Amino acid sequence: MRIILLGEPGAGKGTYSAELVKKYKIPQISTGDMLRAAVKAGTPLGKQAQEFMKKGELVPDSLVIELIRERIKEGDASKGFILDGFPRTLPQAQSLEKMLQSMNIRLSGVLKIEVAKAILLKRLTGRRVCKGCGATYNIDTMKPQKDGVCDKCGKELIQRPDDKPETIENRLTVYQKDTAPLIEFYENKGLLKRVQCEGEYDEVMARIFSALEKTAKV
Ligand code: AMP
Repeated sequence: MRIILLGEPGAGKGTYSAELVKKYKIPQISTGDMLRAAVKAGTPLGKQAQEFMKKGELVPDSLVIELIRERIKEGDASKGFILDGFPRTLPQAQSLEKMLQSMNIRLSGVLKIEVAKAILLKRLTGRRVCKGCGATYNIDTMKPQKDGVCDKCGKELIQRPDDKPETIENRLTVYQKDTAPLIEFYENKGLLKRVQCEGEYDEVMARIFSALEKTAKV
């Protein structure tokens, strides 16, 4: 299965991807995670990406397209993958299409995660991530056992710099301008499936699995 999770920042793409990884045994490919790792490691890519990320702007297409081109060729992605946070612009989507064509593979489907803006804002401002292992929590809905400490590795939980209120608004504006046009792009290809992702977590996951079973050739 090769799927894209499309949705605003804070829609839950990372959280839902983790469940899909468990169920379908295919990797989650998150350009955001890859870029954050590059920033942490201080690589040339990380240094270039950092300034854009801090402001909530998109990193230039050429950089993320190259990241994905290399990543989807890796062995663990041969049976499928979940793209989380890529593509985010029309040129990225068009490049992906060409990459997949050249590898003789197709996308199974694109899930559009639908969440009201008030909920997005709550999820983004409440999100905390572990400095050590990257696990994600939420101070309202997914609390760690001990405040500020990761359940999994015991390291400190912090707020992502781009989850600060002043940056969040910009990320949502950038989404509307650059990423929202992908909805029509994939709708026109008959690949888009909208999934309402508000409510109880287990019910949301059931809706996501059911949408995938219906649209994607697992
Ligand atoms: P995310 O974790 O997906 O919210 O991504 C965090 C940040 O990484 C974004 O705000 C962008 O600055 C950058 N980023 C992640 N994916 C992409 C992408 N596909 N294109 C451009 N920038 C990206």
